[in-house]
Amino acid sequence: MRGTLRRVVPRLLLPATAVYQRWRPGIRILMYHRVVRGLPQDQLTVSPERFEEQMAVLARTRRVMSLADAALALGSGERQAGAVVVTFDDGYRDNLTVALPILEKYRIPATIFVTTDFCDQVSSHPRYGERAAGLHLNWDEVRELLRSPLISIGSHTVSHPYLQRLDPEAARREIGESRRRIEARIGRPVEFFCYPSGDFGEREMRYVQEAGYRAAVSVAPGLNRRATPRYALRRTEVTDRDGARELRAKLHGAFDPLHALLHARRRREFDARRLGVPNGEIAS
Ligand SMILES: [Zn+2]
Repeated sequence: MRGTLRRVVPRLLLPATAVYQRWRPGIRILMYHRVVRGLPQDQLTVSPERFEEQMAVLARTRRVMSLADAALALGSGERQAGAVVVTFDDGYRDNLTVALPILEKYRIPATIFVTTDFCDQVSSHPRYGERAAGLHLNWDEVRELLRSPLISIGSHTVSHPYLQRLDPEAARREIGESRRRIEARIGRPVEFFCYPSGDFGEREMRYVQEAGYRAAVSVAPGLNRRATPRYALRRTEVTDRDGARELRAKLHGAFDPLHALLHARRRREFDARRLGVPNGEIAS
């Protein structure tokens, strides 16, 4: 059912959303996690071939900008037709070994949001459990990424918690301490934050601002415009199912209504299960 919806609805909506987006342009921030071969069942993983196909589409058809330039552009209020930003969550090692060479080939900038405990190699994303040895970037590898002028590093907290379940002190520490730790390791400012599992509310937005970040990204779908809250920027997830045609439809906003419905359901699940969901059950 969902597969059929996913094929049919965007095709029907594409003409209308493409026109709407031309009328009201904005910046689309894409969300990736892993780029690696051999995990087709994992919706957070895109194969190297698929990733290259997607980067080729972006390079050919879009103005791809860094998250820093996007934040500036959003602040200036100038119209951003066809602008796209690429981001990665969690700090997987394959971002360096597989994704970076492809990003460099197509000259595409990207921001990678790292979780400091993962870089310290004291824990890893619970989704991957025991297979996790060598899964995440260590600090040497984070610095190696930064040798490319295309890459910037953002914060994805210290331990990847559901932030809204923490008491104020713990939530502040996850947000502020991760920034300080990353800055100490890489020797440059960390300007952007990414909420683990997209779990945040007004309180978290305030803490992120107080910690000195310029902006934060969520998993709410859609385009970013001047009026989009700076600490709740929207993102569009790209998956291995997105060939060139699907990706173009996604860039034109044809998946946004479907994603908005799925996102609303996910927020309701978050709210209903806030006190009982095991960590890692919900992606990103
Ligand atoms: Zn994450």
